[in-house]
Amino acid sequence: MTILRTWGPWIGGIILVAVVAFGGYRYYLLTKELQITKSDLASTTASLTIAAQQQSDALTNEQSKNAQLEAQLSELNNSFGTQISSLSTTVGTLSKLASTDPELLEKYSKVFFLSENYVPAKLSNIDPSYVYGIKTLQFQSDALPFLTAMIDASRASGADLSVISSYRSFGTQAILKSAYKVTYGKGTANAFSADQGYSEHQLGTAVDLTTKTVKDSFTGFEKTPANTWLTANAYKYGFILSYPSGNGYYTYEPWHWRFVGVKLAAMLHAENQNFYTLDQRTINAYLIALFDPIQPQ
Ligand SMILES: [Zn+2]
Repeated sequence: MTILRTWGPWIGGIILVAVVAFGGYRYYLLTKELQITKSDLASTTASLTIAAQQQSDALTNEQSKNAQLEAQLSELNNSFGTQISSLSTTVGTLSKLASTDPELLEKYSKVFFLSENYVPAKLSNIDPSYVYGIKTLQFQSDALPFLTAMIDASRASGADLSVISSYRSFGTQAILKSAYKVTYGKGTANAFSADQGYSEHQLGTAVDLTTKTVKDSFTGFEKTPANTWLTANAYKYGFILSYPSGNGYYTYEPWHWRFVGVKLAAMLHAENQNFYTLDQRTINAYLIALFDPIQPQ
């Protein structure tokens, strides 16, 4: 008991110190472990953050690629659209050209010959109200509305115009010519009636016009108000004077008007030029516009 009393506090002290030391050591170990776990966690978090960032970057990249592709696609679509619309315009132009008779803008006179086989593809009867005398006259169907519009306008302004002659076939022209030769003699006939095949009348787009006073003689037509009106206005309806005064191709025929389309007639009028002195290639450029509508007056 004495020993216990003597050493007791010492032993108790030693045990206490041992417990404290062990506790301290455990604390130290735990703290260390915690630190390691914390640093592991931080590094995992960092790698996760990096991975997430990479995913996000990849997504952004894909999205931008998509946007780029979409833009390219829409550009392609647009360019297709443009190509298709320009193709359809070209097709429209080509089919318009293919359906327009190129002979209608060729030169026919003493020098230029039209095949005896040529017959206009479309001919229509001219309404008798536009015809001088009682006879059936025909005109190229697509050009006919231009002729009637011109006559209507001339009549509305007081000039009394009528058609005395229009389409004449190769055969009719031949008969007419020999009749003129019998009546007037060859020299005179040549001067005012073209040989068959050289006449614009075979095209179906040329007319001889007259008035109630001039009748079927043609003489004096030049002095009529109708002629003054035609000279100032016929171009608006696509008509030109084929053989004006002083031309080098044919006798002056103030009554003989040919349809060449509003665009070409307007150009000839504006530049004071003659159809027969134009280069054929220049004329041909107007074929596409042959039946373009009359411009509102
Ligand atoms: Zn004529």
